[in-house]
Amino acid sequence: MRPPAETAALSHALPLASGTGPARVAHVRFTSAADGDLRVDGAQPALDARRRALVAGPWTWLRQVHGSVVVTVDAPGAAAGSRADAAVTAVVGAPLAVHTADCAAVALVADGGDGAGGENGGLVAAVHAGWRGLAAGVVERAADALRDAGATGLRAVVGPCIHPCCYEFGVADLDRVAGRYGDGVRAVTTTGRHALDLPAAVGQALAAADADVVAPSPACTACGTPPFFSHRARGDTARQAMVVWIEAAFRERPSRVTGQQGASDRGPSGPLRSSKSGKQ
Ligand SMILES: [Zn+2]
Repeated sequence: MRPPAETAALSHALPLASGTGPARVAHVRFTSAADGDLRVDGAQPALDARRRALVAGPWTWLRQVHGSVVVTVDAPGAAAGSRADAAVTAVVGAPLAVHTADCAAVALVADGGDGAGGENGGLVAAVHAGWRGLAAGVVERAADALRDAGATGLRAVVGPCIHPCCYEFGVADLDRVAGRYGDGVRAVTTTGRHALDLPAAVGQALAAADADVVAPSPACTACGTPPFFSHRARGDTARQAMVVWIEAAFRERPSRVTGQQGASDRGPSGPLRSSKSGKQ
């Protein structure tokens, strides 16, 4: 039996470099139609159950408007419902979600940020990147927000989105995207029409943002497998989700074996900070 490589491409775990504390891992999960409709205005009990099946905890979701506003999330579930197209956080256990049918969902994962979000480094961002958002610079704005919080070494994971095979595009709009990201975004559909190469445009935006693409868009939402929701191809109102979150890889406290000097250095704030992180 063939291993489900196409499904594996929808789930990623990236280690985050940390300073002295426990290691952290960034998880990225893209859904397909098999995971059900995750649009934010769907029936709440079903939506809650579908979210829980992916990752527990209050999600930060966004009222996406194809713009370039980025919100900073300082607690699990904070800023949920914001009118924005990207969210960033350094908080462990704070899932960030964007929703798509043909647009690209992009996860940014970064080291650094020590002191900004807790005892250790690591930050993540969720970005909703359709052509309008790309033209508005949403990817670069999200990268800026991460770097403002101390991020280094940005890596990007790109989700399933509509590919040029299926993305017939008006010439005037194509010119606009090409004006920002170059003629490499011009393509043709399988039927020979003008098309936008959305994965190429996302790639150019990530290059401009100085982020390394560790996983490119794995499939076309209109014609790829496993089946995805596609507004363009099928008029679907249902949505995929991308959810990204930071998880502490090891729960126990870092050992301190430096003897008396280490103990005196710890000070009164040591146990307090440890108990705070232990609850997460
Ligand atoms: Zn296609």
